[in-house]
Amino acid sequence: MTGAAMAMGEFDLIARYFTRPVRRAALGVGDDCALLVPRPGMQMAVSSDMLVEGRHFLATVPPERLGHKALAVNLSDLAACGAEPLAFTLALSMPRVDEAFLAPLAEGLWALADAHAIELVGGDTTAGPLNLCITVFGEVPAGQALLRSGAQAGDDVWVSGTLGDARLALEVFRGRLALSAEDFERVRLAMERPQPRVALGQALRGVAHSAIDLSDGLVGDLGHVLRRSGVGAVIDVDALPRSDILARQRVDVQQECLLAGGDDYELLFTAAPGMRGPVEAAGQAAGVRVSRCGHIVGGSTLSVVDGSGRPLASSFRAFDHFA
Ligand code: ADP
Ligand code: MG
Repeated sequence: MTGAAMAMGEFDLIARYFTRPVRRAALGVGDDCALLVPRPGMQMAVSSDMLVEGRHFLATVPPERLGHKALAVNLSDLAACGAEPLAFTLALSMPRVDEAFLAPLAEGLWALADAHAIELVGGDTTAGPLNLCITVFGEVPAGQALLRSGAQAGDDVWVSGTLGDARLALEVFRGRLALSAEDFERVRLAMERPQPRVALGQALRGVAHSAIDLSDGLVGDLGHVLRRSGVGAVIDVDALPRSDILARQRVDVQQECLLAGGDDYELLFTAAPGMRGPVEAAGQAAGVRVSRCGHIVGGSTLSVVDGSGRPLASSFRAFDHFA
């Protein structure tokens, strides 16, 4: 803790909401460091993601969903690497100790942590603007992590789940679009309660050549894969999986949400055409739909075409915090 002490007391707060016995870690919350014990032959996969109010979430988000999402976006990074979740730390800054906020926040966090058998092993707590930063630790057999750099010309491009609903919800929050109350609640769940594709990521080890999780929109995130792999791609926008709600929107809205939406937390991955069977099997085993939506080519260009092969008129840019 740095800065002003808080009403409830920093240590009471940590003890009440963020301390639980650990089973896999050698040491959890309470000392200067946590101690993790990687199994022999495994590599540790580590990733951090920060959620800042007004940037990554709206003040209207129910705290239970915020707790869920803060961990979900981090688990999504482990999923993209094909890693098994092990432990996480939580750095939390908030203006005041508000138990009506903290209790449901912790509940949402623990529910998702339990669902993935991941343990909270430490963190930091301070007064300040509302901001949550989680670091996750996972394990992956040495040399088997899925990377952005493995895409090969000729690979199919696949995505999990459906894309674009989170962006659709954001457009409604911004007042640019209207949906029925029922449809809005469904797309709002996609935005506020994303499901990290952890089981799928692990099932794709040895099957996919490359993977990334979609957080900033397909065009931008696929661009990272292409640059790291030194290849290009052709994407068929009509083949991108979408909900019935998104499918009822104007075509330009659909395209914007699918290609540049952000906050999808689905996996995009590439695999050799000979692996279509194993990819489908991985999706089935993980209980997640997988859709083929394009292919990798030589060069460095990303072309987005419609179902009849015509290039799209507009270009779609990824979300960039500093652009
Ligand atoms: P230090 O001053 O050594 O950094 P702190 O006083 O900040 O330690 O934290 C005390 C203990 O509580 C540490 O084990 C730390 O990892 C843990 N901790 C602090 N904040 C959180 C939190 N939000 N969630 C989980 N553990 C936390
Ligand atoms: Mg500290």
